[in-house]
Amino acid sequence: MNLILLGPPGAGKGTQAKRLEQAHGLVQLATGDMLRAAVASGNPLGQRVKGIMEAGHLVPDAVLIEMIESRIGQPDCASGFILDGFPRTVPQAEALDAMLKARGQKLDHVVLMEVDEAALVDRLGGRFSCGACGASYHERYNRPKVEGVCDICGSTNLIYRADDRPESVATRFAAYRNQTAPILPYYKDSGVLTSIDGMADIDEVTRQIEAVLAR
Ligand code: AMP
Repeated sequence: MNLILLGPPGAGKGTQAKRLEQAHGLVQLATGDMLRAAVASGNPLGQRVKGIMEAGHLVPDAVLIEMIESRIGQPDCASGFILDGFPRTVPQAEALDAMLKARGQKLDHVVLMEVDEAALVDRLGGRFSCGACGASYHERYNRPKVEGVCDICGSTNLIYRADDRPESVATRFAAYRNQTAPILPYYKDSGVLTSIDGMADIDEVTRQIEAVLAR
Protein backbone atom coordinates (compact mmCIF):
# COMPACT_ATOMS: atom_id res chain seq x y z
CA MET A 1 0.00 0.00 0.00
CA ASN A 2 1.33 3.41 -0.99
CA LEU A 3 -0.10 6.51 0.60
CA ILE A 4 0.38 10.23 0.99
CA LEU A 5 -0.40 12.22 4.11
CA LEU A 6 -1.19 15.79 3.15
CA GLY A 7 -1.81 18.83 5.32
CA PRO A 8 -0.25 22.08 6.44
CA PRO A 9 2.80 22.29 8.74
CA GLY A 10 1.88 21.00 12.20
CA ALA A 11 -1.15 18.99 11.02
CA GLY A 12 0.32 15.86 12.60
CA LYS A 13 1.52 14.07 9.45
CA GLY A 14 4.75 12.89 11.05
CA THR A 15 3.05 11.61 14.21
CA GLN A 16 0.46 9.65 12.23
CA ALA A 17 3.02 8.38 9.70
CA LYS A 18 5.07 6.88 12.55
CA ARG A 19 1.98 5.06 13.86
CA LEU A 20 1.04 3.72 10.42
CA GLU A 21 4.62 2.66 9.79
CA GLN A 22 4.51 0.44 12.88
CA ALA A 23 0.97 -0.84 12.37
CA HIS A 24 1.25 -1.72 8.68
CA GLY A 25 4.93 -2.36 8.06
CA LEU A 26 5.13 0.59 5.70
CA VAL A 27 8.16 2.87 5.33
CA GLN A 28 7.75 6.54 6.28
CA LEU A 29 9.39 8.82 3.70
CA ALA A 30 9.56 12.21 5.40
CA THR A 31 11.33 14.62 3.08
CA GLY A 32 11.71 17.22 5.86
CA ASP A 33 13.54 14.62 8.00
CA MET A 34 15.77 13.64 5.06
CA LEU A 35 16.68 17.27 4.41
CA ARG A 36 17.30 17.96 8.11
CA ALA A 37 19.64 14.94 8.20
CA ALA A 38 21.54 16.43 5.25
CA VAL A 39 21.79 19.79 7.06
CA ALA A 40 22.98 18.08 10.27
CA SER A 41 25.67 16.17 8.36
CA GLY A 42 26.88 19.37 6.69
CA ASN A 43 27.04 17.65 3.26
CA PRO A 44 26.77 19.75 0.05
CA LEU A 45 22.99 19.21 -0.16
CA GLY A 46 22.63 20.25 3.48
CA GLN A 47 24.71 23.39 2.95
CA ARG A 48 22.57 24.27 -0.06
CA VAL A 49 19.19 23.89 1.67
CA LYS A 50 19.91 25.04 5.26
CA GLY A 51 19.03 28.71 4.79
CA ILE A 52 16.00 27.95 2.61
CA MET A 53 14.56 25.61 5.23
CA GLU A 54 15.24 27.83 8.23
CA ALA A 55 13.43 30.70 6.51
CA GLY A 56 10.42 28.42 5.85
CA HIS A 57 10.66 28.40 2.03
CA LEU A 58 10.35 25.32 -0.18
CA VAL A 59 13.49 23.64 -1.49
CA PRO A 60 13.61 23.47 -5.34
CA ASP A 61 11.48 20.73 -6.94
CA ALA A 62 14.40 19.08 -8.75
CA VAL A 63 16.18 18.36 -5.45
CA LEU A 64 13.10 16.73 -3.93
CA ILE A 65 12.15 14.74 -7.00
CA GLU A 66 15.61 13.23 -7.27
CA MET A 67 15.62 12.45 -3.54
CA ILE A 68 12.27 10.63 -3.64
CA GLU A 69 13.00 8.83 -6.87
CA SER A 70 16.15 7.25 -5.49
CA ARG A 71 14.43 6.46 -2.17
CA ILE A 72 11.34 4.65 -3.47
CA GLY A 73 13.59 2.44 -5.60
CA GLN A 74 15.18 0.90 -2.50
CA PRO A 75 14.13 -2.61 -1.43
CA ASP A 76 12.53 -1.56 1.89
CA CYS A 77 9.91 0.46 -0.03
CA ALA A 78 8.74 -2.50 -2.11
CA SER A 79 5.92 -3.44 0.29
CA GLY A 80 4.65 0.11 0.56
CA PHE A 81 5.44 3.62 1.77
CA ILE A 82 3.90 6.65 3.42
CA LEU A 83 4.90 9.96 1.91
CA ASP A 84 5.03 12.69 4.57
CA GLY A 85 5.90 16.14 3.23
CA PHE A 86 6.02 15.16 -0.44
CA PRO A 87 4.62 16.15 -2.90
CA ARG A 88 4.35 19.82 -1.98
CA THR A 89 3.94 21.34 -5.46
CA VAL A 90 2.11 20.41 -8.66
CA PRO A 91 5.38 19.57 -10.50
CA GLN A 92 6.31 17.23 -7.61
CA ALA A 93 2.88 15.52 -7.81
CA GLU A 94 3.27 15.07 -11.56
CA ALA A 95 6.80 13.72 -11.20
CA LEU A 96 5.61 11.26 -8.53
CA ASP A 97 2.88 9.97 -10.84
CA ALA A 98 5.38 9.48 -13.65
CA MET A 99 7.88 7.64 -11.44
CA LEU A 100 5.20 5.32 -9.99
CA LYS A 101 3.81 4.60 -13.45
CA ALA A 102 7.29 3.74 -14.72
CA ARG A 103 7.65 1.20 -11.87
CA GLY A 104 4.17 -0.29 -12.33
CA GLN A 105 3.08 1.10 -8.96
CA LYS A 106 0.22 3.36 -7.92
CA LEU A 107 -1.05 5.49 -5.06
CA ASP A 108 -3.73 3.79 -2.97
CA HIS A 109 -4.78 6.72 -0.80
CA VAL A 110 -4.10 10.42 -0.34
CA VAL A 111 -5.30 11.50 3.10
CA LEU A 112 -5.80 15.22 3.68
CA MET A 113 -5.59 16.19 7.35
CA GLU A 114 -7.87 19.22 7.64
CA VAL A 115 -6.88 21.59 10.43
CA ASP A 116 -7.44 25.09 11.74
CA GLU A 117 -4.47 27.34 10.95
CA ALA A 118 -4.67 29.42 14.15
CA ALA A 119 -4.56 26.27 16.28
CA LEU A 120 -1.56 25.05 14.30
CA VAL A 121 0.51 28.09 15.20
CA ASP A 122 -0.02 27.06 18.84
CA ARG A 123 0.90 23.43 18.09
CA LEU A 124 4.07 24.35 16.24
CA GLY A 125 5.11 26.67 19.08
CA GLY A 126 5.50 23.80 21.54
CA ARG A 127 6.57 20.86 19.46
CA PHE A 128 9.83 18.95 19.65
CA SER A 129 11.12 15.61 18.46
CA CYS A 130 13.62 12.90 19.19
CA GLY A 131 16.93 13.60 17.46
CA ALA A 132 17.65 9.86 17.32
CA CYS A 133 14.43 8.23 16.02
CA GLY A 134 12.31 11.24 14.93
CA ALA A 135 9.35 10.57 17.28
CA SER A 136 7.23 13.74 17.72
CA TYR A 137 6.24 15.34 21.01
CA HIS A 138 4.52 18.49 22.25
CA GLU A 139 4.98 20.48 25.46
CA ARG A 140 1.25 20.60 26.11
CA TYR A 141 -0.45 17.85 24.06
CA ASN A 142 1.94 14.93 23.83
CA ARG A 143 4.73 14.84 26.39
CA PRO A 144 7.09 11.87 26.73
CA LYS A 145 6.12 9.55 29.62
CA VAL A 146 9.45 10.27 31.32
CA GLU A 147 10.50 13.93 31.18
CA GLY A 148 13.34 14.47 28.70
CA VAL A 149 13.44 10.83 27.49
CA CYS A 150 12.05 9.54 24.17
CA ASP A 151 9.27 6.95 24.71
CA ILE A 152 10.25 5.02 21.61
CA CYS A 153 14.05 4.72 21.72
CA GLY A 154 15.10 6.11 25.13
CA SER A 155 17.28 8.87 23.67
CA THR A 156 17.61 12.09 25.71
CA ASN A 157 18.42 14.12 22.58
CA LEU A 158 15.07 15.93 22.25
CA ILE A 159 15.21 18.86 19.82
CA TYR A 160 13.21 21.90 18.68
CA ARG A 161 13.14 22.87 14.98
CA ALA A 162 14.63 26.19 13.85
CA ASP A 163 11.74 26.70 11.39
CA ASP A 164 9.08 26.51 14.13
CA ARG A 165 9.93 30.14 15.06
CA PRO A 166 6.88 32.38 14.39
CA GLU A 167 8.45 34.27 11.44
CA SER A 168 9.31 31.02 9.61
CA VAL A 169 5.94 29.48 10.47
CA ALA A 170 4.16 32.34 8.63
CA THR A 171 6.29 31.69 5.52
CA ARG A 172 5.60 27.94 5.71
CA PHE A 173 1.84 28.48 5.85
CA ALA A 174 2.06 30.82 2.87
CA ALA A 175 3.99 28.14 0.96
CA TYR A 176 1.28 25.61 1.85
CA ARG A 177 -1.55 27.87 0.66
CA ASN A 178 0.18 29.04 -2.51
CA GLN A 179 2.16 26.00 -3.63
CA THR A 180 0.83 22.88 -1.89
CA ALA A 181 -2.97 23.43 -1.71
CA PRO A 182 -3.13 23.59 -5.55
CA ILE A 183 -2.26 19.87 -5.71
CA LEU A 184 -5.56 18.95 -3.99
CA PRO A 185 -7.73 19.17 -7.15
CA TYR A 186 -5.14 17.00 -8.87
CA TYR A 187 -5.74 14.13 -6.42
CA LYS A 188 -9.47 14.81 -6.10
CA ASP A 189 -9.88 14.30 -9.83
CA SER A 190 -8.09 10.98 -9.70
CA GLY A 191 -10.44 9.73 -6.92
CA VAL A 192 -7.79 8.87 -4.31
CA LEU A 193 -8.26 11.86 -1.99
CA THR A 194 -10.09 11.59 1.37
CA SER A 195 -10.30 14.40 3.94
CA ILE A 196 -10.27 13.68 7.65
CA ASP A 197 -10.58 15.87 10.76
CA GLY A 198 -7.00 16.60 11.78
CA MET A 199 -8.15 18.61 14.81
CA ALA A 200 -9.41 15.51 16.66
CA ASP A 201 -7.15 13.99 19.30
CA ILE A 202 -4.20 11.91 18.13
CA ASP A 203 -5.86 8.48 18.64
CA GLU A 204 -9.07 9.58 16.91
CA VAL A 205 -7.10 10.88 13.90
CA THR A 206 -5.37 7.48 13.72
CA ARG A 207 -8.78 5.76 13.78
CA GLN A 208 -10.03 7.97 10.94
CA ILE A 209 -6.98 7.22 8.82
CA GLU A 210 -7.30 3.49 9.53
CA ALA A 211 -10.93 3.64 8.37
CA VAL A 212 -9.78 5.16 5.06
CA LEU A 213 -7.10 2.49 4.60
CA ALA A 214 -9.59 -0.30 5.34
CA ARG A 215 -11.90 0.71 2.47
P1 AMP B 1 8.64 19.42 7.02
O1 AMP B 1 9.45 18.69 8.03
O2 AMP B 1 7.86 18.48 6.12
O3 AMP B 1 7.77 20.50 7.61
O4 AMP B 1 9.68 20.15 6.03
C1 AMP B 1 10.58 21.11 6.54
C2 AMP B 1 11.14 21.93 5.39
O5 AMP B 1 11.84 21.09 4.48
C3 AMP B 1 10.11 22.66 4.55
O6 AMP B 1 9.67 23.88 5.12
C4 AMP B 1 10.92 22.87 3.26
O7 AMP B 1 11.88 23.89 3.43
C5 AMP B 1 11.67 21.55 3.14
N1 AMP B 1 10.88 20.54 2.40
C6 AMP B 1 10.45 19.33 2.89
N2 AMP B 1 9.76 18.66 1.96
C7 AMP B 1 9.74 19.44 0.85
C8 AMP B 1 9.18 19.32 -0.45
N3 AMP B 1 8.46 18.23 -0.79
N4 AMP B 1 9.37 20.33 -1.33
C9 AMP B 1 10.08 21.42 -0.99
N5 AMP B 1 10.63 21.62 0.21
C10 AMP B 1 10.48 20.64 1.14
